[in-house]
Amino acid sequence: MEPKPHDMISCPYNMAHQVEHYRMHIHLQKCRKQHPDSKKVPCPFDATHVVNDVELDYHVSTCPKRHMLDTQLYVMDDDHRPTVPVVQSAPDTSDDWENEYHTSYKPDFSKKGAHMIVKIKGATPSERRKARMEAIKNYKPLE
Ligand SMILES: [Zn+2]
Ligand SMILES: [Zn+2]
Repeated sequence: MEPKPHDMISCPYNMAHQVEHYRMHIHLQKCRKQHPDSKKVPCPFDATHVVNDVELDYHVSTCPKRHMLDTQLYVMDDDHRPTVPVVQSAPDTSDDWENEYHTSYKPDFSKKGAHMIVKIKGATPSERRKARMEAIKNYKPLE
């Protein structure tokens, strides 16, 4: 059973705080201030995410980098928090995540050649510049 956005989950700072899952990150901002001495730990997915130790489970369950490991897509920011299920157990459930997020992004390397800007050997600087300008002019981003 995984929580839906409106399911109540327990605040990591105080089990008596029952908060709807989708609002927990707002609640945590307030509760965090009551615990300024909490131990800080880095997120396992991105060391620039430093969270309080007790929040780590919650952070890991919502961390945008958790998705990016598989999808390589930047789709989340602070205004668009993912509503991912809370992982109830410790963050060592990586096997489950792999099963859950199985849509791996695979770049199509066969298309890449058409978009490379080719260097011309032996041309004069002005010829090289002209060729470079042509290449840039003809450059089309991937559809
Ligand atoms: Zn709380
Ligand atoms: Zn993170």
